[in-house]
Amino acid sequence: MNVLLFGKPGAGKGTQAPRVADALGVPTLATGDVLRNALREGTALGLKAKAFMERGDLVPDDVILGIVAETLAKADYARGVVLDGVVRTVPQAEGLDRVLANLKRRLDAVLQFDIDSDDIVRRLSGRTVCEKCQTPYTGREPGSRCDKCGGFLVRRKDDDPDAVRNRLTVYEKQTAPVLEWYERHGARIVTVSAVGDVAKVTTRALKALER
Ligand code: AMP
Repeated sequence: MNVLLFGKPGAGKGTQAPRVADALGVPTLATGDVLRNALREGTALGLKAKAFMERGDLVPDDVILGIVAETLAKADYARGVVLDGVVRTVPQAEGLDRVLANLKRRLDAVLQFDIDSDDIVRRLSGRTVCEKCQTPYTGREPGSRCDKCGGFLVRRKDDDPDAVRNRLTVYEKQTAPVLEWYERHGARIVTVSAVGDVAKVTTRALKALER
């Protein structure tokens, strides 16, 4: 199953993606994680993305589509994928469509996580992520250790209030139209509330996908 997670930055896509993917038996592709790893390793991709990411702006579409095409062509992704944080612009939606068509696959569902912007700012200002495996946490201080891999928890630079506000503006301008694009193209769009307990949101999402 190929599922695209959609929603504002901070809606919980990064938390839900591995849980939904586990239940479906497919891997995830989180472009934000790929870019943060590239940045940490100082690769050409990381250098290209750095300034955009730190401001909370979008990385250019051709860079993102390169990651998507390369990843989805790998054997591990033949059974499906949970896409997290991609696509974020209409050209990316068109590009993903082409990549999937070339691989003789199609998108089965767009899973939308619904949440208020006020809740987002509150959520992101209290968030830390593991610098190694990128698992997000709420209410854990920077410097504590990740439950999954033992890595250090850090604050993301783009979680400071100015960058968060910019990311929400970028979402409204560039990413919200993606949903209309999918509506126009007859995609199956499933919307669940992103508010509440992590496990409950996962159950909600899986039930909605099953229907
Ligand atoms: P995320 O972890 O998904 O919130 O992504 C963090 C940052 O990486 C974003 O604010 C963008 O700068 C960049 N990024 C990740 N995915 C994309 C994408 N699909 N298109 C453009 N930029 C992206």
